[in-house]
Amino acid sequence: MPELPEVEVVRRGLERWVSGRTVADVQVLHPRAVRRHLGGAEDFAARLRGRRTGTARRRGKYLWLPFDDDTAAESVLAHLGMSGQLLVQPAGAPDEKHLRIRVRFADDAGTELRFVDQRTFGGLSLHDTVPGDPEGLPDAIAHIARDPLDPAFDEAAFHTALRRRRTTIKRALLDQSLISGVGNIYADEALWRSRLHYDRPTATLTRPRSAELLGHVREVMTAALAVGGTSFDSLYVNVNGESGYFERSLDAYGRENEPCRRCGTAVRRRPWMNRSSYFCPRCQRPPRPATATPPASRPAVPPLSARAAS
Ligand SMILES: [Zn+2]
Repeated sequence: MPELPEVEVVRRGLERWVSGRTVADVQVLHPRAVRRHLGGAEDFAARLRGRRTGTARRRGKYLWLPFDDDTAAESVLAHLGMSGQLLVQPAGAPDEKHLRIRVRFADDAGTELRFVDQRTFGGLSLHDTVPGDPEGLPDAIAHIARDPLDPAFDEAAFHTALRRRRTTIKRALLDQSLISGVGNIYADEALWRSRLHYDRPTATLTRPRSAELLGHVREVMTAALAVGGTSFDSLYVNVNGESGYFERSLDAYGRENEPCRRCGTAVRRRPWMNRSSYFCPRCQRPPRPATATPPASRPAVPPLSARAAS
């Protein structure tokens, strides 16, 4: 799944190539790609025709395209899913094998917007916007928390919520209602940078520790963004079809059995919630079980032999 940096790379491409353009025509080539649009393919196409696009926006891993023509408070939400791509292509370029939706524009820029999706988990849908939201946030994602690169991200509330939740740190980082945009890759990277084990209970994190972790989340995402994101899968591309190369800079994710770049210990991979967690067993010590009693305070138990004799 693309995470915040990969989605932001796509958003920037849309901002550059698909802002302020009037939709001439929409062609839906596969109904699954608009299944989240309740009115169906024809309705989707009809309601986009003639609209003028605004500046693409993003919250966490969610991307949307508002309209700047003010005729109705609606936005097009893009779900990239596992393999969705938004490409800006010359109008005459051959169709991609998995082309699902084509948007033509009423100008002479010579390019069109294409939604290409091999596995068809993604799609486009039109939604009402949250009333009064200046960015045209689609109501379908109103519950998604702000992401850590958003200037309006509420840092104090995040730290408080972490301390209160009876959960573990990686689960919390992936909880899109608490903090959005972080997925498996950047969670493992930020935890490695913070020397925190993924199963550490959030209640045990001091405010300075959680602030440090948040700082590492921001750093690793910013670094990834600077090189176009991570391309574990050749499907993660920008609107021009180019992939990023942050995977060369990953410290934990995907590095099973390779030496930790800090201490040389082999990085381990453990199954975690149907995914994997990569960590250094030396730098990121597992938490002690919360219920364990420290050995010093345990009541003295007679040796087995003494009990057997009594
Ligand atoms: Zn290490």
